[in-house]
This record gives sequence, C-alpha cells and structure tokens, in this order.
Amino acid sequence: MHFGNRRSSRSGFACGRGTLNSEERLTLRVDARKQQIRTFYHTLFHAWGPQHWWPAQSRFEVIVGAYLTQNTAWTNVEKALANLRSAHLLSVKGIRRASLADLERLIRPAGYFRQKAKRLKIFVEFLDQQYQGSLTKLFARSTPELREELLNLHGIGPETADSILLYAGNHPVFVVDAYTRRILARHEILAEEAPYDEIRELFERALAPIANSVAQSPCPANQPLAAGFQAASHAPSKMSTVKRTALAQVYNEMHGLIVGVGKSYCRKSQARCDECPLQKFLPRSK
Ligand code: SF4
Repeated sequence: MHFGNRRSSRSGFACGRGTLNSEERLTLRVDARKQQIRTFYHTLFHAWGPQHWWPAQSRFEVIVGAYLTQNTAWTNVEKALANLRSAHLLSVKGIRRASLADLERLIRPAGYFRQKAKRLKIFVEFLDQQYQGSLTKLFARSTPELREELLNLHGIGPETADSILLYAGNHPVFVVDAYTRRILARHEILAEEAPYDEIRELFERALAPIANSVAQSPCPANQPLAAGFQAASHAPSKMSTVKRTALAQVYNEMHGLIVGVGKSYCRKSQARCDECPLQKFLPRSK
C-alpha cells in the first residue's frame, strides 16, 4: 500500500474543506506520520514475520543485556552474558554476591566494563532496597511510575529504561533507538535529533490501532519464523514467547523489525535502499 508522503501531507490543505488553521494542519501532519509508521509495520512484518525479541531466558537476563548493550554491538554482549552464565552469576543473586572485580572481568567483552559493572550493582541494590529483590514486585508498578524510577537510576537513559520495561516487564512502551531515528529522518518523518519522548509517543499512538486488531487474532509471538531472510530475528526464546498484551507485543515486534532494517539496510554510512522493503515509501525528494 502506498499512502501520501511528506510532500502530499505538506500540500493540499484546502482538500475541499476550505483553508485549514495551523492546529488542523498539525493534526493532518501527525496523522500522516502515524499512517506511515503503521504502513512500515505491515510491510516489514509481512516481509519478515515475527522477530522474537528479546533473546533471553529470563527477565533478569534482559535487564543485564539492556545495560551491557549500551555503546556496543550485540555480539560483544553475548560474550559477556556467556561469561556470566558459565560463572553462574546471571541472576539477581549472582550479581549481588559477585565482587566488583569479578564482575568487571566477566563483562569485559561488552566494553565500558567498569562503568557497567558498577551500574549492575546499583540496579541490584535498588531492587533489594525498594522491592525486596523481587522483579515481580518491581514490574507490578504502573508503567509511568516505574519508568520514572528507572530513569532516576544511575546509568539508565530512556532507551535502556524502555528496553527493561518492554522486554523484561512487558510494559507497553516503545523503545526508540538510533535506527529508529535514522529511518524517520531519511523518510523525512521526523528530524534525527527529535526529542526521545516525541518519537516514542508517535510510535505508541501509531501502533495502538494495530494492537486492537492483533487482540482479536492469535498472538504473533507464537508464530514460527518466516522462511528466508530474517532481518534481526532470533530463534524463539523463553522471553520472546512469554504471554504479553497485544499492545506490548506490537511495540516489541516493531522495534525488532526496525533493528532489522537498520542492521541490514539503513546503515549509517550507506543506505541500501534498492534492496530495502521500505524503499517504496521514500519521499520523492530522495
Ligand atoms: S535503507 Fe533506504 S529505504 Fe530502507 S529505511 Fe533506510 S532510507 Fe528507507
């Protein structure tokens, strides 16, 4: 499906309804952006199917991965996670009892290991002090309250907080990353430096209607992977197939699909538009 692009949303404001005021024009622009995002979702999901994010066996493994992936490639995170697993420290109890020096040594492959080891310790201290060490109690909090709390923790920015909320806690929050910003900018939907929460809210509002339709059909988390090229998909894992709301599922899926576009096509140095499923939605100026 090809819908209007930025050029068409900027012009044609008469559209048989007389001159629109600035508020109405803004509403039209936002509606067009939301429609673009929904079309991206349908196109990518149709092409690649479920992406099975996040690849982890437990909520705590997601949390550790969310910290470790800051400023590093996922392959390095996997090595650090494997070290923690072999040392039987990939748990709240494990991080609590590990010495800082051991933790630093084990997560070294993920880079910034001193900083990240300290941050993991801080998270566990916070969990112990505020939630008696229970992730169930932590994730029972309301989404806005917990988001606020996580953002106040040392070393947690919005992307890490939202990754924890969505992928460990199944809270319905969309995760914005550098790939999201790049794709939006190259399609002239929003500037790359747009505020994090503006992008997050745009995606959340755009994808909510899809969640309503998903709620009436089987959850795609349990579908097998589509054949052929899999973008950024993972094999189904305990965490990727956990029961979650339709809204959390759609946010989960969209982030995985965007990572697939960013990793395989929409690279920083070179965009491989000719092979990208989103090529047909590029603005006419490109
Ligand atoms: S690679 Fe090209 S078509 Fe694909 S998302 Fe990036 S800019 Fe769009």
